[in-house]
Amino acid sequence: MITLSNSTNLSNSKTNPDILQPVISCHNITKTYGSKDTEITVLNSVSLDIYSGEFVAIVGPSGSGKTTLMNILGALDIASSGTYTLDGKLVSNLKDDDLADIRNKKIGFVFQSFNLLSRATVERNVRLPLIYSTEFRSKDRKERVRRVVEDAGLQLSKLYNKSNQLSGGQMQRVAIARALVNNPSIILADEPTGNLDQTTGKIVIDTFLELNKQGRTIILITHDLNVANNARRIIHIQDGKIISDELNKNKL
Ligand code: ADP
Ligand code: MG
Repeated sequence: MITLSNSTNLSNSKTNPDILQPVISCHNITKTYGSKDTEITVLNSVSLDIYSGEFVAIVGPSGSGKTTLMNILGALDIASSGTYTLDGKLVSNLKDDDLADIRNKKIGFVFQSFNLLSRATVERNVRLPLIYSTEFRSKDRKERVRRVVEDAGLQLSKLYNKSNQLSGGQMQRVAIARALVNNPSIILADEPTGNLDQTTGKIVIDTFLELNKQGRTIILITHDLNVANNARRIIHIQDGKIISDELNKNKL
């Protein structure tokens, strides 16, 4: 069962605005699969705080629990125990509609395999998450799509190409544009360079660095230390446990 937390921190922030609250706060998150005899623990007492504007890499070998953690951070999945607070809201207490809402408004997701509608155009793929938008009205959506396509570093001349006509690097840019379209404060990227060659991967990382400069919080999940090295803070995960959480001395 999910442990309920009190909201002491939240009330503190209301009475004392000087106390900086993390946008993401995990306390003793555990995730298990299976039942009694066959139970496996995939995340084991993970605690971390991430503050607005950080660029954090979560790095670990295959099977260490990175995607499981990303799914919890992205409110796509719920922990077996522990507490997770996203932007001051206790995620385990939210109903499905509220979870969908928080995901759509606050988080942009980028995946290893792009997850685009392959036969739809770039414009349609990027526009899709705007369906639920209250921030961007119908008449503003065309312009919004163009804006984020450019922000993601893709040429506007590709707007009406089908996504399966693009290179891997271009597809990942479409996915980044789609992640940006609802103006989320947090970008969660799971192995975003995993299907790209080194040069193209670097360009994608540079795009994240630029988005971070604009104030977005970036959480970059990777098995590749070289990729993780672009972040200012690096969290190492192994066998479902955080084994280190340090500032990257190369980026200070
Ligand atoms: P990573 O992304 O670091 O490669 P994952 O989070 O995908 O690791 O997986 C961590 C471990 O959890 C793996 O051993 C995987 O087999 C297991 N796992 C992931 N999802 C499930 C599931 N739905 N049921 C059972 N085991 C799972
Ligand atoms: Mg994974």
